Amino acid sequence: MESKEELVRKEENRFMETQRPARVYSAARPTGRQHIGNYLGAIQNYVALQNDFQSIYAIADVHALTTIETTQGLKENCLEMALDWFAAGIDPEKSIVFIQSHVPQVMELHTYLSMVVAVGKLTDLPTFKEKVRMHPQNVNYGLLGYPVLMSADILLFKTDFVPVGIDQAPHLEFAREIVRSFNYRYRTDVLIEPQMKATATPKIIGTDGVNKMSKSLDNDIEIAADEKTTEKRVRSMVTDTNRVRRSDPGNPDICNVFAFHKIFSPPELCAEIDRECRVAGIGCVDCKKKLAADLNASLAPLRERRAELAKNPDRVWESLRAGAKRAGAIADATIAEVRNAIGIVKP
Ligand code: SF4
Repeated sequence: MESKEELVRKEENRFMETQRPARVYSAARPTGRQHIGNYLGAIQNYVALQNDFQSIYAIADVHALTTIETTQGLKENCLEMALDWFAAGIDPEKSIVFIQSHVPQVMELHTYLSMVVAVGKLTDLPTFKEKVRMHPQNVNYGLLGYPVLMSADILLFKTDFVPVGIDQAPHLEFAREIVRSFNYRYRTDVLIEPQMKATATPKIIGTDGVNKMSKSLDNDIEIAADEKTTEKRVRSMVTDTNRVRRSDPGNPDICNVFAFHKIFSPPELCAEIDRECRVAGIGCVDCKKKLAADLNASLAPLRERRAELAKNPDRVWESLRAGAKRAGAIADATIAEVRNAIGIVKP
């Protein structure tokens, strides 16, 4: 039975909650330097959202532990990722940016949520089956509980919206089901069901011309690579494979280089390449040179900002610590409510 004082505080909290701006939450594993796929698929969206929402972005180092073989380089990867995020425009003053393990309340919530999730539900998830297939030597509990920890990440901050692509919608539905189970089990409404903020995440194909851009497939182009490295990576891009000789006409519609031109080059150049490629008026070598030049020009301001930030990594760590403090304050409030709802004895 809640005391009068607790009820008043709860009402005040509720009032404060309704006064707050809508929140978005998203997290990404610390994969180090970010590539163009990360940039176009997630980071740009993060930057846009921070103007309209209270945005909370985590570098999910605990999630990374489920599959990585060594933690060597984990700290470096967190820093490199944060440098790219901040250089790309995620503002640590506007957004709450932090490293997941620096807000350990998420582990506590994960434990409580795990009590309302059936094991069969977790083992049936296609993502778990896929992970088992990919990591047969290391089927650890973390892999199984991954969706529960992911739900805890989201629910800890009373997230209103999660920016996800359509393909990730089932993950969010899982978190919503946990909310319903938890709230029903403990006759409470402390956890709120997050909504999907559908995002048009373009599928960026890597330099191999076939697979989604990915560091592990070595088909990526880093956003902060130097100009020469960018040129080299672009040179290695697979084009229209039917175009064997320079004199063969090509088809830009099936060429990944052209897909990049459409993103990074001016419309006039795209129109010219579209026209000339089809009549063999331009060769792939020249076409790639133009792409590399446009990519380097587009990313130059980001690279400059990154180089500046990298001169003082302590400031980046300080921003992440400050983010963890702000995130921790929200997390503390949620955990207090959750414990109370469950009926856990106060310390
Ligand atoms: Fe692709 Fe450009 Fe070669 Fe055409 S000219 S096939 S668009 S790389």
